[in-house]
Amino acid sequence: MSPDRLRTAVVAGAGAVALCWGVQARPSARLDALFATGAHLTGLLAGYGVLVMLLLMARIPALEHGVGADRLARWHAHGGRYALGLVAAHGLLALCGYAVHTGTDLLTAVQGLLGYPWVAAACAGTVLFVAVGVTSAGAVRGRIRHETWRRVHLLTHLAAALGFVHQLAGPDLVGPFTRWIWAMAHATVGVLLVWYRIVVPVRRALRHDLRVVEVVTEGPDTVSVLVRGRGVAELQAEPGQFFRWRFLRPGLRSTALPFSLSAPVRDDTLRITVKAIGDHTRRIRRLRPGTRVVATGPFGALTAHRRTRRKVLLLAGGVGITPLRALFETLDGGPGDLTLLYRASDAGAVVLREELEAIAYERGAALHFLLGRSDDPFDPLAPRALRDLVPDLAAHDVYLCGPPGMARAATASLIKAGVPAGRIHSEDFSHA
Ligand SMILES: Cc1cc2nc3c(=O)[nH]c(=O)nc-3n(C[C@H](O)[C@H](O)[C@H](O)COP(=O)(O)OP(=O)(O)OC[C@H]3O[C@@H](n4cnc5c(N)ncnc54)[C@H](O)[C@@H]3O)c2cc1C
Repeated sequence: MSPDRLRTAVVAGAGAVALCWGVQARPSARLDALFATGAHLTGLLAGYGVLVMLLLMARIPALEHGVGADRLARWHAHGGRYALGLVAAHGLLALCGYAVHTGTDLLTAVQGLLGYPWVAAACAGTVLFVAVGVTSAGAVRGRIRHETWRRVHLLTHLAAALGFVHQLAGPDLVGPFTRWIWAMAHATVGVLLVWYRIVVPVRRALRHDLRVVEVVTEGPDTVSVLVRGRGVAELQAEPGQFFRWRFLRPGLRSTALPFSLSAPVRDDTLRITVKAIGDHTRRIRRLRPGTRVVATGPFGALTAHRRTRRKVLLLAGGVGITPLRALFETLDGGPGDLTLLYRASDAGAVVLREELEAIAYERGAALHFLLGRSDDPFDPLAPRALRDLVPDLAAHDVYLCGPPGMARAATASLIKAGVPAGRIHSEDFSHA
């Protein structure tokens, strides 16, 4: 499914929810009725929003391949704020409506409302949603461990279940048909979550029995890990895609880290190339052959399917070379069709150099290493510098992967240099 189609489907779903509300709304000019009507609309949209947020993260292959894991994660992060805003608006409107209806102050209204079990369930769910929202806010997220953030985030499922109970038992949904539709929508999302996040990974782990076969040093802080298993070709992993890797050894088994394939799948062997930037990636350097691996995937849409032009520019920054290395070897094309630009701070930071040079030689492709610190006066990614290196730049598709700052600057330069935004295909290593 394409990003545009998904966006249209989500908006259409919101329209259908608003229609449900419109059909059951009873026009009234009374203040308490106005508050209640507003509460019903925001409540239904909040419930729908939460379902969409869960669906975006259900790891459904059609979405992962068509839309891309990084874009899904970005939409989830943005959409989550709106869903939380709707939950808060719903609670506030319901409280005001109840206070006006019973002629009490807000504090007494809170006590009165909490007497209803479905309201108590909703309050508990709201507290969980707020905890998820707070730990996901930029200022907090950067200070807590990824695993802590993730554990708190898993509470979203409990919060959604409490919200669902609240809506089935409460006054937001009127009539058996609406309740049935609502229950079916929740059941569908629940089944998809269990299927793609639990059943499929467990089945694949048992089937493929992946194990580390070799760890190769590629540079001072970078290693390649080769992982082999049974029937790995069945996974149909494409160059440019990534897996979430769980290495079953102390210090690594509790987290699934995303790493792109740095080479096409061969002889039932997958290869990743990992730069040590934190505790987990440092431990990967010490993996021993024989270590069991659970890999879920493949995910990601940075594949040959996105290509629209014969000529392709691959633009890598730092460890963003990994998916582009695999594409450099495998994208169709004759001499002169492929160009790889690899930005790195200095020669020591370049990895897989010999492989890249061999591929460039064999395929008649252009390869340039753009070395230098990002604060150097000369910017090799400025529009003019890019045009000097790739004279017919505007006729290319561009595959871009690098640190967020570099990717943003490179995208702006490419657009200034005449490459349409729709032909810049990128993967963001900070979202998944
Ligand atoms: C789609 C994708 C593909 C990637 N491919 C590669 C690759 O081929 N080679 C490579 O070296 N790096 C790759 N990365 C980056 C790599 O996943 C992180 O560097 C690594 O997870 C950091 O782990 P750490 O615990 O050592 O570092 P930490 O210092 O603990 O984490 C650094 C940052 O990495 C991110 N991170 C940590 N754990 C996870 C996790 N379980 N899931 C998602 N993000 C996490 C967080 O944003 C965190 O702030 C990729 C990332 C993504 C999203």
